[in-house]
Amino acid sequence: MKSYISFRNDLEAKKTTCAEAVETFLATIAAKQDLNCLLSVNAAGARAQAAEADARFSAGNPRPLEGMVIALKDNINTKGIRTSCGSKILETYVPIYDATVVERLKNAGAIIIGKANMDEFAMGSSNENSAYGAVKNPVNPEYVPGGSSGGAAASVAAELCHAALGSDTGGSVRLPASFCGAVGLKPTYGRVSRYGLVAYGSSLDQIGPLAPTVADAALLFDTINGNDERDATSCPFTPLNTTSQLNAPLPATFTVAVLPDEQLRGCDDDVLLAYRKVLGTLRGMGAEIVTHEMKYIGALIPTYYIIATAEASSNLSRYDGVRYGFRADVTNDEDDMVIKTRSQGFGAEVKRRIMLGTYVLSSGYYDAYYTKALKVRRLIYNDYKQMFKTADLFALPSYPTPPFKIGEKSSDPLAMYLGDIFTVSANLGGVPGISIPAGTASNGLPIGIQLQANHFDEMHLMQYAHHLEKALT
Ligand code: GLN
Repeated sequence: MKSYISFRNDLEAKKTTCAEAVETFLATIAAKQDLNCLLSVNAAGARAQAAEADARFSAGNPRPLEGMVIALKDNINTKGIRTSCGSKILETYVPIYDATVVERLKNAGAIIIGKANMDEFAMGSSNENSAYGAVKNPVNPEYVPGGSSGGAAASVAAELCHAALGSDTGGSVRLPASFCGAVGLKPTYGRVSRYGLVAYGSSLDQIGPLAPTVADAALLFDTINGNDERDATSCPFTPLNTTSQLNAPLPATFTVAVLPDEQLRGCDDDVLLAYRKVLGTLRGMGAEIVTHEMKYIGALIPTYYIIATAEASSNLSRYDGVRYGFRADVTNDEDDMVIKTRSQGFGAEVKRRIMLGTYVLSSGYYDAYYTKALKVRRLIYNDYKQMFKTADLFALPSYPTPPFKIGEKSSDPLAMYLGDIFTVSANLGGVPGISIPAGTASNGLPIGIQLQANHFDEMHLMQYAHHLEKALT
């Protein structure tokens, strides 16, 4: 993978140019079309931005991300560039504004090379739910890249860009990062503006970076985080500069909470091996390992899928054939138009979730499912608060198995949902989490390990992740 930081060193040494980098990435994109990573390529825009970046370097005033070539998950609004959300229903939707994160990236000098394939409306764990076809894992194209930001993670791994932004509602940045051998960060809820991110589960969604290294992810995070008055759930904090602390020495001792063996039952041996290796490395770095039993582990998946689908069923009601994108061929009957548009425009998984979400919100079942799920969510939050009174970090697998083959799980939605066991709690509790590469499985595919930290403690999370990454390589 191509780290931006090493590219920037080359740029400053005048060994290369941004224009050259963009041409190399565009050539790789053309050569690797079979992976199906990108849904739109912004060649002309990227070339123009590269020319400006080179001019800034020549003039001696480059900005923090000058020349960093970025792919954006296709649910992040980009002015003038189609934003399909991996759905047929938004096939022709071209936003008239940039999401806040896109605005911030552009102001920092980043170059937008294209829009990345994804599970339709970010619903999925394997990127097989895209209306535009599955994404293949660049390490071995028979395997899934993880989802739902699979195109974004695969674009980084296949060297179609320096880095990418994805969105994580229940693991969709961390999981594909782990399957593709990249780093993926889900920030604390409220840390990064959701303005211009097409909503899936609004109380869970966070945009996060995917990059070859923790340091590159930190640069991106530093640029996109911070208060935004256009997002009412954005926290009123000034932007955090995690890069400044990455290399600061760790304390001589620190505490890492880990899962007890019983709660790792069902994990693949390769994953357990990688997890134990990481815990050994952490010990060597000064960690005191303490066991933390996640009290509500059995309730995580049901709670997540009730809240996420409830919010999705409400968020997706806006796609009616009137306001955005696709409209079915119909007569003058308005109901008929809405029904046909939604029936033809949404894929099977999205329809399943709209039905589930509508069911748990229906008046007869609201208290039994939705209200109950909200109560459990509070308990999960409390459990995190309790754990982080004494622990600096929580270490857990990113996913219970190594990457699986395309088609292997797609006929069994429940098996697919259960795989999200180690990622959804961070979204339900609102805490930040990062997946970093931690070795290779016996099938030759990457395995990631996850670190989580207390709310708004990205500063330490990134610092520990950076030190751990160095210790593992
Ligand atoms: N796999 C989870 C789901 O399908 C998470 C998706 C996400 O984080 N966007 O809901």
